[in-house]
Amino acid sequence: SDHARVINFGAGPSALPVTVLEEATKGLLNFQQTGIGIAEVSHRSKEFQAFLASVEASIRAQLDVPPTHRILFTQGGGSGQFSAVVYNMLARYRLLHPERSAADTVVDYVVTGSWSKKAAEEARRLGGAQVNIVVDSKQFSESGKVFDRIPPHDAYKFSEDPALVYYCENETVDGVEFSHEDSAPASFPFHLLQKGNALAPLVADYSSSFMCRPIPHLADHAVIYAGAQKNIGPAGLTILIVREDCIVDVDAAARLGAAPVPITMSYKTLADAGSLYNTPSVLPIYVAGLVLERMQRHGGMKHYEETNRHKAEKVYAVVKKGEQQGKLRRKVQEGSGSWMNVVFEVVGSDAEKKFLEGAEKRGMKGLKGHRSVGGIRVSLYNAVTEAEVDRLVDYIDNFINE
Ligand code: PLP
Repeated sequence: SDHARVINFGAGPSALPVTVLEEATKGLLNFQQTGIGIAEVSHRSKEFQAFLASVEASIRAQLDVPPTHRILFTQGGGSGQFSAVVYNMLARYRLLHPERSAADTVVDYVVTGSWSKKAAEEARRLGGAQVNIVVDSKQFSESGKVFDRIPPHDAYKFSEDPALVYYCENETVDGVEFSHEDSAPASFPFHLLQKGNALAPLVADYSSSFMCRPIPHLADHAVIYAGAQKNIGPAGLTILIVREDCIVDVDAAARLGAAPVPITMSYKTLADAGSLYNTPSVLPIYVAGLVLERMQRHGGMKHYEETNRHKAEKVYAVVKKGEQQGKLRRKVQEGSGSWMNVVFEVVGSDAEKKFLEGAEKRGMKGLKGHRSVGGIRVSLYNAVTEAEVDRLVDYIDNFINE
C-alpha cells in the first residue's frame, strides 16, 4: 500500500511514519487485545487510561518536563489556545490582583508572523485587557510589509506587569523561527523577562515545532501548547504544558470580575479530570502515542535535533546556491530561518509552476507556500527522513542548474 505514497512536504496535517500508520491500522481493528478498535473503545477503560498515562510520560521524559508543570490534553487546536490562554491567564491575574480592572491589565504579544498576529487579534477580540504589541517584526523588514526576521533584542518593549507574555516559537506560514542559541541575535530575549525572582508569565505557541528538538528554557514558561498535527500525530489533539500556578480556579476569578471561562477551556477542568473531563480525541491520542513511542526508541530529542538540523541545513544550502545563481530567492533573513518550514521564491514567470510540477512528477508534494504569502514552503517535520530531503535537494540542484 505504501507504493502509492509520495514524499509529503506539507505544512500540516503532515507526514506520519509508515510503520506507525500500519500499527495504527491494527489498533483501529483491535486496541490492545480488548477486541474493540481504538476509535470505538471507551476513554474510561483501563486500557485507554493506561495508554494516555504512557503518552504523558513519554512527552515528560523526552522534553524533560519538570514536576512544576502539568501535561494536559485537549481539543480545539492552536486556535483554541489563542482564546484559552487569554481566559486562563486573565483569571490568574485577577486572582493575584483583584483590584485591577481591564483598563489596568495588560497582555504582551510578540508578533513575528501570521500566527502570533492572529493570537494578538484574538486577545483584542476577547477584551478584559489592553493588548501591548511588544514588537512587530514587520516593521524591521525592508518593505515594512513582510515577516522576514526575528527582531533585535533592543526592540522589545515589554510592559511592567503583564498578565501574559506571548510568542510563537515557529511561524509556520512565514518560515521565521527563534534561534535556540541564547547568544544569537535571533533568540528569544528570555533575559529581559527577569523581574526580581519572578519571571513574567510566558506563553509559547509551539504548534509547528513541538518535539522536533528540546524546548529552551522550558521550565521558565507558564504555558506551552501545540496541535499534534505537525510533528507527532493527526489533527484533533492539542497538547499543553502548564505550570501549576497557572491552573487556577476560574470561577473564583469570575466572582472577582474576570470573564467566565467556558468549562472545557479551563485548565483546571482539564487538570482535575486528568484530561478526561469529556471525551478526548481517542484516535489522535493513540496515533500520537505510537509516534512518541517510536521517537523514544530512536533516541528522543537528541536524535531528532541532530537529524532536523541536518535536514534544514541541506535545504538552506541549496536554496542559497539557487539564490547565487539568480534562480531562487530566500524570503527570510539569515539566522531567523525556521528548521521546520523553509520558504523561498522561484525567480521568473511561470518558474514556480514549473518547479512544483517537476517536484510532483518526482513524487514530492505539499511544496506550495501558504496562500497568504505564496512562494514555496518546504516543511521538514519529524516524519520526513533525511533521505527524502536528499531527494528534494537533488531535485532543486538540478532545477537551478537547468
Ligand atoms: N499556530 C501555529 C504556529 C500554526 O502553525 C497553526 C496551524 O498551522 C496554528 C497555530 C493554528 O492551529 P490549528 O489549526 O490547530 O488551530
